[in-house]
Amino acid sequence: EQTPRLPATSPYGNTKQMCEDILRDVVAATAASEGVVKGIALRYFNPIGAHESGLLGEDPNGIPNNLMPYITQVAEGKREFLNVYGDDYDTVDGTGVRDYIHVVDLAKGHLAALDYAMAHTGSEAVNLGTGRGSSVLEVLRSFEKACDKEIPYKIVERRPGDIATCYADTKKAKELLGWEAHHMLDEMTADGWNFTRKNPNGL
Ligand code: UDP
Repeated sequence: EQTPRLPATSPYGNTKQMCEDILRDVVAATAASEGVVKGIALRYFNPIGAHESGLLGEDPNGIPNNLMPYITQVAEGKREFLNVYGDDYDTVDGTGVRDYIHVVDLAKGHLAALDYAMAHTGSEAVNLGTGRGSSVLEVLRSFEKACDKEIPYKIVERRPGDIATCYADTKKAKELLGWEAHHMLDEMTADGWNFTRKNPNGL
């Protein structure tokens, strides 16, 4: 959370920064009044998976931009293969590393943040991640185990704007909110596939 925010190459990152700044300023502007606004910016890492019941999950329209929904559509036979955006990064197997977090852990992070906000004033930014990184191929292998199928893939060019590795420092979430993620990658892919299997055409 202390790292300077520099979304220079990312319009998406810019929108996040703007929203955080608005939140912080609204909190500061109301600090002296009775109707104090409290703000916590929750910095999601890479949420994936679904509720274990298979009743709540993700079914994106169109061509997915994100890794997990794309892999899911390949597993369903809706797309032929996964494009892996580069295998020459300085990572465990050359593919990009991200901090994937189970959506249910993420949801619980929101509850912890609300509890915190009820008892405190001011504004904060808090990372919601697991603190562990997984490569694209590690996610793919985990998903293959979950669906018991081979997922075809091709290595293609790097995607503009991507970085090699991104994972959370989870200390602040633990100390401030008393929250940490518990679900591991295999549970995320298993729950994600369970939802898709039960809802092949979405909800
Ligand atoms: N990725 C990939 N193929 C895809 C989508 C994503 O190889 O079709 C890679 C991407 O380069 C990154 C990781 O998977 O290393 C996670 O990408 P995603 O878009 O899901 O999340 P991001 O971290 O970019 O927000």
